[in-house]
Amino acid sequence: MRALPATLRELAKVARREREREYHRQLQIHRGQQARLIRWWLFNVMGDRCAKCGAIWPLQLDHPHGRTWEPRKLNCYARAVAYLKDWAAGNLRILCASCNHIDGARRMHEARIRTQALNSTEEVPF
Ligand SMILES: [Zn+2]
Repeated sequence: MRALPATLRELAKVARREREREYHRQLQIHRGQQARLIRWWLFNVMGDRCAKCGAIWPLQLDHPHGRTWEPRKLNCYARAVAYLKDWAAGNLRILCASCNHIDGARRMHEARIRTQALNSTEEVPF
């Protein structure tokens, strides 16, 4: 149990701090709901199935031309907004987990060929 505030001024300070804490807690919840809403809207507007094979689960958002931001550096709301901007710029599609992994592996393979400056014309093996 918290100690009682000694003076009225202290009491006002505690009350204000509590109000601020509650405000930020509510804001956090609100942001989380907005982020979920944005993701739900994106999946709906983009067809809700894999762009390559038509699978309906498990779906992931993919950037066909790569992204300029780091997902782990953004909170869920900022991430949702970034996805929204990428969608508006035409750089977002829905892939199933399997197609997304294949796509990522192919991109890494192609990047390796480029960086090693191989004039290899070999086909990507998958
Ligand atoms: Zn797929």
